[in-house]
Amino acid sequence: MIYDAIVIGTGGVGSAALYHLAGRGARVLGIDRYAPGHHRGSSHGQTHIIRQAYSEHADYVPLLKRAFELWSELEEGRSEPLYHETGILQVGPADGAVLPGVLASAAEHDLAVESLTAAEAADRFPGFVVPDALSAVFEEQAGYLWSRIACGHKSSWPAATGRSCASAARSSAGSHPATGWS
Ligand SMILES: Cc1cc2nc3c(=O)[nH]c(=O)nc-3n(C[C@H](O)[C@H](O)[C@H](O)COP(=O)(O)OP(=O)(O)OC[C@H]3O[C@@H](n4cnc5c(N)ncnc54)[C@H](O)[C@@H]3O)c2cc1C
Repeated sequence: MIYDAIVIGTGGVGSAALYHLAGRGARVLGIDRYAPGHHRGSSHGQTHIIRQAYSEHADYVPLLKRAFELWSELEEGRSEPLYHETGILQVGPADGAVLPGVLASAAEHDLAVESLTAAEAADRFPGFVVPDALSAVFEEQAGYLWSRIACGHKSSWPAATGRSCASAARSSAGSHPATGWS
């Protein structure tokens, strides 16, 4: 088999690259040190959170908006949703690094966030004890994803996409031969 593209590392990022290359008609191969769905990378686990108002920098927000669109597309044709909108509550010092960053991203990109005092946050989310010295920001359009689907797990790929690729892995436990995904 001659491949158009070979991606080394099939965590969330590599798997997404494979998925979109395959969707454009490329014959792709993903290679990883471990078998698909392994738990030794950053993408391990059943779920990951997703949000838009990144505290790190407002420049991330357009990428997050696009990520929401792509997760929504990935959801099509599946019986169970991948995205569960729970909102996200971030708590910290009002003059720290996180909350001002969230508010700046939200302001620049017109995202819906609510600033809450410690008392308001504790009242609305009684499961949390919020110290008086801290503040909170609640972002409504945020939640968690069943992100395991994104990590090269053969059984997770939606058959409806009609995409195919192959994976191969080698680990200390032995090698796993390339197998077709379709
Ligand atoms: C504990 C934790 C919690 C997180 N929670 C969130 C969250 O809730 N929301 C969020 O958005 N982000 C979260 N992140 C960040 C997010 O998970 C990572 O940014 C993302 O998973 C990175 O994906 P990746 O594909 O780049 O890396 P990885 O998932 O680590 O994939 C890299 C792959 O490359 C393979 N590899 C490495 N070296 C080789 C080699 N030499 N040859 C072959 N294969 C190789 C590895 O086996 C692995 O499969 C979290 C990260 C961690 C660690």
